[in-house]
Amino acid sequence: MSQASLATEAAQLVDRLDRLVRSGEAEHGLNPAQWEALRYIARANRFSRTPAALADYLGSTRGTVSQSLISLEEKGFIARTKSTRDKRSVDLDLTAQGRTTLGVDPLTHLATDIAATRSVDLEAVVALLREILSRAVARNGGRPFGVCRTCRHFQKAPNAATSYARCSLLDEPLSKVDSAAICVEQEAVAA
Ligand code: SF4
Repeated sequence: MSQASLATEAAQLVDRLDRLVRSGEAEHGLNPAQWEALRYIARANRFSRTPAALADYLGSTRGTVSQSLISLEEKGFIARTKSTRDKRSVDLDLTAQGRTTLGVDPLTHLATDIAATRSVDLEAVVALLREILSRAVARNGGRPFGVCRTCRHFQKAPNAATSYARCSLLDEPLSKVDSAAICVEQEAVAA
């Protein structure tokens, strides 16, 4: 098979996998956009759990995202509170019900199937998918939303006993948990 044919088949496989995951999502009374919002809020750091950042992450409009968030709040999955950093915005957090629901996320079935494929180098697969995602994000003019510890503004503290790290862009302390979260302001270290 040619490289182009293989690439097309890979794209079709990714598309079919996505549809299969989505077909399991309806069982829990949430639509795909609402699942994506819950997953994002669980992964994002405190600077990024806002409706505007969520809209950027999903490549969606703020109006559409707002409808999803209103519904999630009414159903008890998330809480919205006035932001202390930006009076015009709100902070998004999962409720206990939201966290419990993410425990039965249909995406975990896909992760289990991936983990069962022991013959491949999963680190290589993840690196490949990251590269493909990065190209798609660049084409759409979006932000990378990478992990904090891979950001050029991430500064590990010299003394781990007193603090873990600091963000030089936002001038804020960062914990070990923060370092593994995704961020709307993340900028990868230059290669
Ligand atoms: S170091 Fe980068 S990714 Fe981490 S909080 Fe700061 S801007 Fe965001």
